[in-house]
Amino acid sequence: MASAASSLASQFSGLRREAAKPSFSTAHLFHGVQSQLRLPSARRPIRSVVAMAGTGKFFVGGNWKCACNHDDYYLGIYNDFCLKPVQILQNGTKDSIRKLVADLNDSKLENDVDVIVSPPYVYIDVVKQSLTERIEISAQNSWVGKGGAFTGEISVEQLKDIGCKWVILGHSERRHIIGEDDQFIGKKAAYALSQNLKVIACIGEKLEEREAGRTFDVCFEQMKAFADSISNWKDVVIAYEPVWAIGTGKVATPEQAQEVHVAVRDWVKKNVSPEVASSTRIIYGGSVNGGNCSELAKQEDIDGFLVGGASLKGPEFATIVNSVTAKKVTA
Ligand code: PEP
Repeated sequence: MASAASSLASQFSGLRREAAKPSFSTAHLFHGVQSQLRLPSARRPIRSVVAMAGTGKFFVGGNWKCACNHDDYYLGIYNDFCLKPVQILQNGTKDSIRKLVADLNDSKLENDVDVIVSPPYVYIDVVKQSLTERIEISAQNSWVGKGGAFTGEISVEQLKDIGCKWVILGHSERRHIIGEDDQFIGKKAAYALSQNLKVIACIGEKLEEREAGRTFDVCFEQMKAFADSISNWKDVVIAYEPVWAIGTGKVATPEQAQEVHVAVRDWVKKNVSPEVASSTRIIYGGSVNGGNCSELAKQEDIDGFLVGGASLKGPEFATIVNSVTAKKVTA
């Protein structure tokens, strides 16, 4: 599979991948005399480009879930469906949100990255009022159609009204804890996009599915449900998040992630179009942190990250955003 993955990868080496190889020049002949003769430099100006299979911009999202600080998060919610028994969730507070926002406002973020954060619904408004406009706001979910008599739901119209630009749909916690199925998620995506709310479309296999060799089947089934509902992909980012890696501290290796990203991109190429395959960002999520982001970012088909736990620490989230520098090559 690894070799299949790398041969697929090369098909998507797009514009951003082109890094001029240093061509043999006569410059070495003038070594030592160049300054005396004041010859024009043989070198072309140096500019940094980002080595990515597609043509989009690096993208990093922070999913704050139902927790507002890092410690709460890791006391988390995974006992029923993940690997380890854990303790009771303590929800965050306005104070922890204020601190996180202040840390993010103080961070220096690389320019060539789209950055979003996804606070719990009840804090979206306060975050929107206080967070730098450099970072866009996402919701963690949205209702499947126009708002109405749907007790407890939040409509796309309302999210847009309070300044959300994005929504995360198909997150594994909504699939496997709340019970949303592929078709329902696809419909949600279609409705959000119809109202110009951009979508982070999550897919990913459970541990037993990976162990049964069904990773690609599961991801492709989930992709199909999105593709059946989505007609315009320009406002979609695909997030590959293996369920076994979410919130567990068990990150996919760069090779494991790259392999699935290549396969998903190839699926999009064959089932949607080559243009959409090249322009749609495929980001990785699952225990990304400040220590492992650079190695993951170097993979050609990893176009960014969706980050849970580590997004609750402002400086660490900034490190992850800035891992785009690991992708930079000189051209
Ligand atoms: C997530 O919930 O989308 C996620 C990737 O979480 P974590 O980074 O904590 O694994």
